[in-house]
Parts: sequence; C-alpha cells; structure tokens
Amino acid sequence: MAKTFQPGYDVVVIGKGIAGLTAAVNAAARGASVALVYHSTLCSSHLAYEGVFRFPENIDELDHMVREHGCGLADPKLLAAFFHHYRDFGQDDLERIFPLAGAKPIGKKHRLGGPGILADLEHLCNSTGVTFIRGTVVKIDAPDGILSAVRMYHVRRLITIQAKSVIIASGGGIGNIYGTSDNCAACCPPGTALALNAGARLRDLEFISFHPFGAIGCRTHDGTTPVFTFFSIGENTEIYSNETNRRIPFIEDLIATRTADKNPHDNIFRIARTVWQNNGIHIFKNIRGSLQRINLSVVAHSLIGGIEVNADFKTAVNGLYAAGEAAAGLNGAGRLPGMALLEGYISGKQAGINAADHAGKSGFYPVDPDGFFPASMRFGMFSNLTDTIKQIADAALFIERTAAGLQLARKRLLKLQSGILKNHLAQHIENDLLETALAMVDASLLRKESRGNFSRQDFPGMDPGMQRNIVIQKNRPDSEITVSWSNEPAAFLACSNGQPSF
Ligand SMILES: Cc1cc2nc3c(=O)[nH]c(=O)nc-3n(C[C@H](O)[C@H](O)[C@H](O)COP(=O)(O)OP(=O)(O)OC[C@H]3O[C@@H](n4cnc5c(N)ncnc54)[C@H](O)[C@@H]3O)c2cc1C
Repeated sequence: MAKTFQPGYDVVVIGKGIAGLTAAVNAAARGASVALVYHSTLCSSHLAYEGVFRFPENIDELDHMVREHGCGLADPKLLAAFFHHYRDFGQDDLERIFPLAGAKPIGKKHRLGGPGILADLEHLCNSTGVTFIRGTVVKIDAPDGILSAVRMYHVRRLITIQAKSVIIASGGGIGNIYGTSDNCAACCPPGTALALNAGARLRDLEFISFHPFGAIGCRTHDGTTPVFTFFSIGENTEIYSNETNRRIPFIEDLIATRTADKNPHDNIFRIARTVWQNNGIHIFKNIRGSLQRINLSVVAHSLIGGIEVNADFKTAVNGLYAAGEAAAGLNGAGRLPGMALLEGYISGKQAGINAADHAGKSGFYPVDPDGFFPASMRFGMFSNLTDTIKQIADAALFIERTAAGLQLARKRLLKLQSGILKNHLAQHIENDLLETALAMVDASLLRKESRGNFSRQDFPGMDPGMQRNIVIQKNRPDSEITVSWSNEPAAFLACSNGQPSF
C-alpha cells in the first residue's frame, strides 16, 4: 500500500459531525492550521433530521435534568463549564451560525435540520481555511503521553499526519457495535478505542440510551439524505404488539401522559421495556392516501459514556481533546434528552479553542513515518467479525442484562480476539470495535445494580454504594483493558428517581 507523510497541522479534528465541524471552525478562527479528517458525511448529526436543540433556561433547570436523568453520575465540573459557556449562546447565534438550518423556536427548544446545521458549519470551515481529508483514522500516536500524529487509511493509501493537538469528535459509534440501532452502520473504529490505545481513559461505557420507537438501520436515497430513522408517536396513535397483534393501551396511556407534559420522562424505560417484550410494535399511518403498517422497535440510540475529559474537554494525554457524543461526563447515567446537539456545539467550540491554544504553545513531537505502518501491513477484507460483534452486543448488552449473558458475551469476544491477525488493517479496525464491546461488557458486569439507562435483571434496585463512575484504561498500548471503580469521590448531584431517558 502507498504511504504518505503529511508534516504539520496545528490541530487535526477527527469527525465531520456537529462537534468536529464546530471544533475545526473555532480552532481555525484562533489562527491554527486545521485538518478535519472524516470517515463519512453520514453521521448521527446528519440523522438528527429535524434535530431538536434544547435549551435549559437556567442552572436550576439543568440541575433538575441532571438529577432526573444523570442519577448521581454526571461530572459537576463539566456541567459547570458547560453552563458557563452555554450562557454565551442565544437566538441571535442560532440565526447567525445556522442560516441554512432554519431555527424554528418551539418553547424552550428549537427545531433545526441536521443536514442544514452541517452545511452551515462546513461553509464556515471553508471560509476559515480548514482542510478536509476523507479517510478512516486507525491510530493516534502519543509516545510518552504526548500527542504526535494520527494514522489513517484512505483508498489503499496509508497516511500519517503530524499534529500538535488532536480532537476526537468521532460520535458514539453505536451503529458499529449494535445491529439493532438507528445510527448508521459504518465499520470504523470508535473514537473510544482510538483514545484508549493512545493512553487516555474511558468512563461509564455501560450506559447506552435506547430509543423506544426506532426504525432499524438508516438508509439513504442518494448517499446523503436519510430516508427515515425514527417515528414520533403522538397522543392519538394506536399501538399494536408485533407479538400478539393486539393493541397496547398501556403504552398509549403512558405516551398521552408524556405528551401532556405532566410527567415527561418517568415512564420512558417502562415504554422501552414493554416494546422490547412485545418484540417491537407497529402502528398504521395514512401515507399518500393508503394506510400503511409501520414497524418500530427499541433501538440502541447513543453512547452516554465515552472518553474521559476535564472541564477544558482535554483527555489525560497531552494535546488530545474529545468533544460531542465521543466524550463522557455531562450526562451521567442517563442522557439529557434533546441536548446532544447543543452539547456537541458547546464542547466542540471549547475543544477547538483549547486545542488551538495548546498548539500555539507546543512544537511538533517526533514521528516515525513507518511506525504503525510496517512494510508487511496489508488491508485485506473485513471478516464477518463485525456482524458477530453486533450479534453479541444485541444479545447481551440490550435493555436488560444478566451476569450469565454478559459472561457468555465476554467469553465469545475473547475467543474472537485471540484469532485477530496482526499487520492486517481491516482486522485491526475490527479489533477496536471488539475492545469497545468488551469494555461495555466488563463495565456492565462490575455495576451490580440498576441505575438510569442501565438495567441488570439480576440486580433490579439502585445501590447507593455504587454512585461512582467506572473507568476503563490500559497500562500499555498492547496490554489488556482494565475496568475499575473510579477513586474520585462520587458526583455531588443526587439521584431523584433513578429513571432513564432516551
Ligand atoms: C436518528 C437520530 C436522531 C437524533 N435526534 C436528535 C435530536 O433531535 N436532538 C439532539 O440533541 N440529538 C439528537 N440525536 C443525537 C445527536 O444527533 C448526536 O448525539 C450528535 O449529532 C453527535 O454528534 P457528533 O459530532 O458528536 O458525532 P457524529 O455526528 O456521529 O459525527 C461523527 C463523525 O466522526 C466520523 N468518524 C468516526 N470514526 C472515525 C474514524 N475512525 N476516522 C475518521 N472519522 C471518523 C464519522 O464519519 C462522522 O463524520 C439523534 C441521533 C440519531 C441517531
């Protein structure tokens, strides 16, 4: 395979979603030279087709949301930083920053189309001189805990790009791990594994949000426009079980309560579990004059945990930052609903500014151009490992988890890992998927309770002694992952009711 060495960008951003584009434009506006590398234009930000930007009115409202959903595990320092930066952002900014997305206020929320948001940000990136490079990042080099380069693959070319700072804005990668997901299924290593192997820590990977009414697997008309991902179910929708074909008035009642905004989030896990137990649901909808049956089921929707960052969105590796869904800490044990886009925007902006400032004070760290790409490296084909990982995740890491199911998943993943070929780039990528799934399984085994979006069938109650984060790390790049309770004190925010959200 041909090899290319690209010396010198101040900042390399990984990901072309809302977090990556915002990071790139802010780093470039700070005077940094910026390359944005991306695997695909189709991403979660794109799929938030009529995305909702939700705005907490004040710190009390944010605090209330975190109590309700975060269940004692959100990072107070990160929340304080988030709210501090959020104060700068208002309606004027929405109209100025997102002219194409067309912000429509709906109460304390704004509707903006995902593709419009991305088009607006890409336009800003182009006008600030950001270089776009398409390809898949397969490794981040950080010898001695100092960031030096990213390694990527692009159509039979292996590219090494030297960098002073790197921002991982690679999204949650949930569509790579689960088969039953409303995210895109694109085989690329989740940023979590890239960060882990560069020496950063991950946290709370046991927390995934599940959407109760998803349509599985996004497809596109033309490669850019999502056809349809999930369906809003209103107060007057009749819901039928796929298992029995009978109506489920229980869910209809719960939705009516939710729609009336009396009790907005308390019942979501009950809805998701009921939909799951009924093997999915169907509704009937009049589409262009004919009544059509629409099948919906619970889908893995987003990553709640991820890469550990501090209040500057910096990881433990010097020069390495993370933003958007790839980063952990803001949500705690349950995702703050409708706030992922706002979170991606604010964390991307701060990561971009901080990474540019870091680059301004740093030199390039030496890179061995051949290092990760030895002469014997070949791409080969993806095996069916990816599909097997998805089957394992769907079976063991869905709504309800048990010790037996998780142990079996662990055994199967370790067996698959023992057969991975070295110097085989496709298998290296698949191994990164596998390591993330393994970390999710190990963290789920350690958490012997049910909290927020995490449910253990064998431990249905919440245990106050487990109001702590789980951290995932490697001692050396080639060593095994370790999963353990964090030594840091539990977050100060109490848990109100332990209910999850989507
Ligand atoms: C169907 C759907 C609807 C949603 N609706 C809403 C909503 O209404 N409101 C809301 O707030 N949130 C919503 N969300 C969640 C929200 O869209 C996401 O959390 C958010 O967009 C994530 O943005 P991001 O920039 O962090 O990552 P993404 O948008 O996922 O972007 C990740 C980018 O990283 C790239 N990438 C990943 N790995 C690599 C690699 N190894 N090398 C190179 N590039 C890589 C990808 O190709 C992509 O360009 C929705 C999500 C989905 C799936």
